[in-house]
Amino acid sequence: MEVQLSTLCYLERDGKYLMLHRVVKKNDINKDKWIGVGGHFEKDESPEECLMREVREETGYTLTSYRFRGIVTFVSGDGVTEYMHLFTADGFEGEPIECDEGVLEWVPKEDISGLNIWEGDKIFFRLLTEEAPFFSLKLVYDGAGGLVSAALNGSPMPLDQQAAAIGAADGAGTEHPKKAGTLLKAAAFVAVAAIAAAAALFWGGTGAGIPENRDGNGGPKGFFNEVPVSLSRAQKDARAAAEVIRSIDTSKYTDKELILVNPWHLLPEAYETDLEYVEYGHRIDECAAEDLREMLADCRAEGNAPMICSSFRERTKQETLFENDVRRFMYRGYSEEDAREETAKNVAVPGSSEHEAGLAVDIVYLRYQSLDESQENNATQQWLMEHCQDYGFILRYPRDKQDITGITYEPWHYRYVGYEAAEEIMSRGICLEEYLGQIDGDGSFEALDSDEW
Ligand SMILES: [Zn+2]
Repeated sequence: MEVQLSTLCYLERDGKYLMLHRVVKKNDINKDKWIGVGGHFEKDESPEECLMREVREETGYTLTSYRFRGIVTFVSGDGVTEYMHLFTADGFEGEPIECDEGVLEWVPKEDISGLNIWEGDKIFFRLLTEEAPFFSLKLVYDGAGGLVSAALNGSPMPLDQQAAAIGAADGAGTEHPKKAGTLLKAAAFVAVAAIAAAAALFWGGTGAGIPENRDGNGGPKGFFNEVPVSLSRAQKDARAAAEVIRSIDTSKYTDKELILVNPWHLLPEAYETDLEYVEYGHRIDECAAEDLREMLADCRAEGNAPMICSSFRERTKQETLFENDVRRFMYRGYSEEDAREETAKNVAVPGSSEHEAGLAVDIVYLRYQSLDESQENNATQQWLMEHCQDYGFILRYPRDKQDITGITYEPWHYRYVGYEAAEEIMSRGICLEEYLGQIDGDGSFEALDSDEW
């Protein structure tokens, strides 16, 4: 058997990855596949030296900012095992050159999955997008390009989770035709980008390279989580007139499950979560973990395919995103105060997301992972909406409560509130704010405006 050492790098720019389409070399196991740039180590090279040289040779660029993201053990199935040192780079200079290994093309991240790429690559694209801490991913192929198994940090990845990352290929295309650009000639249409879009930032760490939006998930606004709505005059009036349906028992309000987190009620800085893993690295507060597992299992038992795409999110992550943007505005000449104000229009203020409390999960249908309103159209999501209260969850941001929650309709964001509250909230068609008797907002809440940068 043969052992090889290599580097693999994805250069990022404007929401795109630089991809190499290997159309040139004959007898290349990557022939006609799209991969990152990189290559084999030369004598005495460190991973970084190999990276710099390969990127320069293949693209003409000199990297100025890169990160070592993980090691991929690639078992080809036909006698070769390759240890790929995986990097991403968001800074580079120089002029691009023609690559003699294939055709280089900047591909929007959301289109990557439609390319002819190795099945296992979809797993690490997801890990990259989710800002996973340095990881070790083992991918075993059958020699004919088929992925046999995958293991993350030494643990086999459960089949359904592999499917979550790779199996969504079939079918998704027919359900999501509007994204089927000409680039997407491969039959596979996994929404890696959608995975990316939906990816939880549960890994924490300091994000880099992903343009953050209000919810800190990156990408264009409106596509991700928790986009605050702008309140029209009529909505403000409606809010002012809204009847407080129920005054709550204040002792209940201090229950963890009933903590209110929204743009007007920030999570206390000292708030502590007791997190438990549910599946595939996703964590939720231990008070909700068992119920969540059960809900997913029962949902699957009915023939559905739910997938958690976002769960606990570190506050520090949100703070980093926020502070980075404040600094960006200050570089552009804003005073700190103005910079904070501008930033708050686009990035969720730390403490304002339920994900930070470890009580919320975003769940999507495996074969339709986009966070948009169409999410409500599949049977999986409908099952969840219908049954979530049996497991102590509520659909947190209903369509008709935007003016009260301050958040646009999200048919994927479920919040744990415990059985009693869930039953009442869902059966009466009210939202958490109404249940708690805490209807806020003074009309100062402004619309998003991220177009200026
Ligand atoms: Zn969410």
